[in-house]
Amino acid sequence: MTAVMTRLAGPCRRLVLSLAAGLAFAVPRAVEGADLKPLEAVLVAADAATGDRVAGWKREGFGAVAVVLGDDVAAPALQAAAKAVADNGLALYVWVEVGRNPEMARDHPDWVASLGSHDDWRKRFPKARPPGKGEVAKAWPWVPIGYKEAFDAHLGRAKTLLARVPAGCRGVLLNDLQGGPSSCGCGNAQCRWATDYGVPSTATRLAGPGAAARFVAEVGKLAPGQEVVPVWTTECEAEDLPADKLPKGGWGTGYCGGVECLATCRKRYAEQWAALHADRTGPTGLLLLHKEFGRDRGEYGGPAAWVAQGVGYAEKAGAEPVAASRLWVVVQGYGVPADEAAAARRVAVKLGPKVVLVARTPLDQSYEPRVVPVKSAR
Ligand SMILES: [Zn+2]
Repeated sequence: MTAVMTRLAGPCRRLVLSLAAGLAFAVPRAVEGADLKPLEAVLVAADAATGDRVAGWKREGFGAVAVVLGDDVAAPALQAAAKAVADNGLALYVWVEVGRNPEMARDHPDWVASLGSHDDWRKRFPKARPPGKGEVAKAWPWVPIGYKEAFDAHLGRAKTLLARVPAGCRGVLLNDLQGGPSSCGCGNAQCRWATDYGVPSTATRLAGPGAAARFVAEVGKLAPGQEVVPVWTTECEAEDLPADKLPKGGWGTGYCGGVECLATCRKRYAEQWAALHADRTGPTGLLLLHKEFGRDRGEYGGPAAWVAQGVGYAEKAGAEPVAASRLWVVVQGYGVPADEAAAARRVAVKLGPKVVLVARTPLDQSYEPRVVPVKSAR
């Protein structure tokens, strides 16, 4: 707690830690805005936002609708969704998936994120062929913005997509702006900190931790007057460490295999988080999909209890947390029983962020290894 108290003594104190009743770990409790009820929003496919359904979401207490803006969503479909949302007095947002893109991965395998030089990912994919000489294993279909070619292509795609968005849209959420999963090669889907960790690059690697901040700023120019919300994934947790590195009597997930990447992972997370927020005062989202990330374990204190732990991630990584009044918390409302989805929503609402966004359309975070040749040294 000493580090926590030091932080609280600082000028930027925004959150205090308190032990939440019934939970065995420190949970960040929002001070600023904690007494205010968060805006609750639902994330859906654009064609799901019909008048009847939007009216139903309003009855469920949702005040906003975010629709996934994919390549296949045409302007008329967006206009229909926008009308249904506006007719019910709700706010409209759009969601753009940036990092995970099967079409881009298929067309440009050189842009796909590498699985780093640790080969613990192979325990998860025992049938996968390991890379040979002159080859590198990739986390298909992840095409993050860490390569210049991919950064430019995603920005071009965002421009095309945002041109279809009707007037009145409040903002744009940008998902998966970090590296690809298993970025060090440990196998953990939430290990996102590295680009080409110990392996050759297959495209032009962008230097430094600032790619996401630049991308957010560029998208802001494409969507004047709208909020731009980068959605950030929390990374390796202490319980993901190898079994022999866990505290005595502690439990583990095994998600990082035999790799002790936690310390580096958090250091790089803190650097990238700091870069994202250096020149921004806008909102930031946290992608806390408890089932998608395999965090629906009883050890967390309930199937959705990890959501609270995820909100405290920046502090654990030694980074300055974002004020609750700027925070969007994205929880999983698909692929789980209704009571579990409700629990995830409830946990997030209790934490008092600005917005709780319940995803009712899948946000696939999976990857599979694919070997590609390294055509030339970069
Ligand atoms: Zn790792």
